[in-house]
Amino acid sequence: MRFVLCLVFVIFLLAQLPIVAADGLLKVTFFDVGTADAALVEGPAGEHILIDGGTVAGGKKVAAYLKARGIEALDVVIATHPHPDHIGGLVQIIREFEVKTLYDTGIGFECEEFHSYQKALREFGGITTIVCGRILVSLPSGVHLEFLNPKRRGKRLHPDCILARLRYKDASVMFAGDLDTVGEGVVLFDELPLRSQILKVGHHGASDSTCEAFLDAVAPRFAVITVATPNKYGRPHEAVLERLEKRNIQIIRTDECGNVTFISDGHAFGPPKCERKPKPGIGSR
Ligand SMILES: [Zn+2]
Repeated sequence: MRFVLCLVFVIFLLAQLPIVAADGLLKVTFFDVGTADAALVEGPAGEHILIDGGTVAGGKKVAAYLKARGIEALDVVIATHPHPDHIGGLVQIIREFEVKTLYDTGIGFECEEFHSYQKALREFGGITTIVCGRILVSLPSGVHLEFLNPKRRGKRLHPDCILARLRYKDASVMFAGDLDTVGEGVVLFDELPLRSQILKVGHHGASDSTCEAFLDAVAPRFAVITVATPNKYGRPHEAVLERLEKRNIQIIRTDECGNVTFISDGHAFGPPKCERKPKPGIGSR
């Protein structure tokens, strides 16, 4: 089943009873899957949202993590854009887990991973929604997922990447995918609600993302950079790190921390829990 939603839209997801016990807390884990993106939201009522699935290798890691925690179903899966480091791992996820709703840009990309992803989607029995406008998805627990993409979407990969803001009471997280400064400019122009306590930094800290005005509008306390170093693109870029540092935003890097988890009771987030201890003195660089 496939829907295209281009208008401001509100969806209430009536989730079935979760398989995993609920503890009333919001947990957000950013996976260490190289210079690639995959993040898991565990909601206060035991619901699960996956934002991107990393590369094919990253997907194996994410799938193993979910299985180890007894997670068999995902209420929402988001494919922010069709690059292999975002959708490569979703092929395994779609095939091995019960995915109830999947949100996609509807934009294609010529690569083997995208063809595998398309094939998996054709076999997928859940609901696919093409995001081409603002959508608010509300879960019964009080978790809200806002897709902040403007109605006038194009077919460019990074300018039209899905931008999703998660809210639970006062806690908020911005998942910027690989949104670039062109896309940031559009949401800034539309004066959309961007303020978030955690920012998943766009495009792995590349210099074509995370402009000053976007950062001022989001005003995060924590910035998560999903990256493996060294990489041939020199990410995270020095200029991006400087923009974050001059605003006293705490930088968390998956190349230093491994998987990183933030927990909130719906107000502030506690300090990040890193899989590995960052080397003393490294801080951000
Ligand atoms: Zn990309």
